[in-house]
Amino acid sequence: MTGQTLPVSRRMFLATGAATMLAAPALRAQGTARVVIIGGGAGGASAARMLAAQPGIHVTLVEANPVYTTCFFSNLYLGGLRSFDSLQYGYGGIAGTGVQVIHDRAVAVDRDRRMVILAEGARLSYDRLVLSPGIDFVNGSVPGWSLNDAQTMPHAYRAGPQTQLLARLLRAIPQGGLFAMVAPPNPYRCPPGPYERVSMVAHLFKERNPTAKILILDPKPGFAKQALFLEGWQHHYPGMIERIGPDFGGADVQLRPGSNQIIVDGQVQQVDLCNVIPAQKAGAIADLAGVTDDTGWAPVNGASMASLADPRIFVLGDSADQGDMPKSAYSANSQARVAVDSILSQLMDAPAYVATYANTCWSLIAPGDAVRVGASYGAKDGRIVATDSFISQPSEDAARRRATASQAEAWYDSITAEIFSEAPV
Ligand SMILES: Cc1cc2nc3c(=O)[nH]c(=O)nc-3n(C[C@H](O)[C@H](O)[C@H](O)COP(=O)(O)OP(=O)(O)OC[C@H]3O[C@@H](n4cnc5c(N)ncnc54)[C@H](O)[C@@H]3O)c2cc1C
Repeated sequence: MTGQTLPVSRRMFLATGAATMLAAPALRAQGTARVVIIGGGAGGASAARMLAAQPGIHVTLVEANPVYTTCFFSNLYLGGLRSFDSLQYGYGGIAGTGVQVIHDRAVAVDRDRRMVILAEGARLSYDRLVLSPGIDFVNGSVPGWSLNDAQTMPHAYRAGPQTQLLARLLRAIPQGGLFAMVAPPNPYRCPPGPYERVSMVAHLFKERNPTAKILILDPKPGFAKQALFLEGWQHHYPGMIERIGPDFGGADVQLRPGSNQIIVDGQVQQVDLCNVIPAQKAGAIADLAGVTDDTGWAPVNGASMASLADPRIFVLGDSADQGDMPKSAYSANSQARVAVDSILSQLMDAPAYVATYANTCWSLIAPGDAVRVGASYGAKDGRIVATDSFISQPSEDAARRRATASQAEAWYDSITAEIFSEAPV
């Protein structure tokens, strides 16, 4: 990673966007157009960088925190394979490209006046608004647990102090102790994330606490890359990991955070630590802007990432209900390209493009043993649909798995450089 600012030019954007030009009419902006982006994570910060290079557009990025901690690769930190600092990025690189960066929380969107209201009272008018606020948790989705209990039973599913807390508590588990994870129902951010986390916790235990056990309580009948994880766990961590699916009570879980107890299908079990990953929904500001529906997510047009509730608002990343793409940083970055194209074609004298997207999710099962799943996507009938896909195969040789692990590292370095263009803080 370098400390320099990388210019993101329109040409570079098109070269990486893999888009095809359409002969669509374009609106020409009267003077400078204002684009406000809420959320400086994988989707919003990507969009800010892509838009910053455009003449005639004033870009404002509203981000609650001065430092962004990547959820991606945070499991490696839990496993002791990465430092916490290596996950953190400031916004100096983005500000250096001409984006106005405001560290405050957006608390309301007045769609009639096209205005964003910030917690400190400022009001920002916009011609187009991009929402990429990530996720919020569904209150009450795990009986007995609420966000108030996250200090004793952490979620660590929004990276930051929660991730550090989980790392500390994992290391304090007594020899031969029991770590439980309550996995989330679909849909949620990073489908393989909980299972990569289990792999990294197992790696940590193998090194420091080899008789400890891991119990996964899962409301889903199956999970992403299941065959690959199960094979990897059997190979690297035999006898350490047990998963209880919905047939055996994995969907009937209650928690007693005060006494570190879990109740599965009526049976009380004492644990040493429980990681609770609750059900999820769009970041609260999407709801406050009135662009979510009964599912809690924000439906968008898969050809443009524009909200179905308001064509002047674009929703990216985890908050969007778009179709087949998993909720990942790679997806959010890919969706930012399409949204920026759509915004430019609406506001400026720029051509419209046929939307294409891509995603790859890598997961580390053990040091040097990574697997991946990915796909290309297009838009059909207003939704994003997969056009082709690939996945690692069971029993691949060690050299291929090492190469996949290196590819994952290279992806992490390149996406964080593209978005933040500065060394971790
Ligand atoms: C354990 C784990 C591992 C993962 N691993 C991978 C991986 O290997 N590869 C991958 O591609 N993805 C991975 N992901 C998923 C990835 O982190 C998310 O999908 C991605 O960050 C989503 O981007 P986003 O822009 O939607 O949200 P985020 O990146 O979460 O950004 C949202 C931002 O909005 C800000 N915000 C929210 N509301 C407001 C408001 N009202 N006002 C101002 N700011 C606001 C937040 O502070 C935050 O910075 C992982 C996730 C987890 C939890």
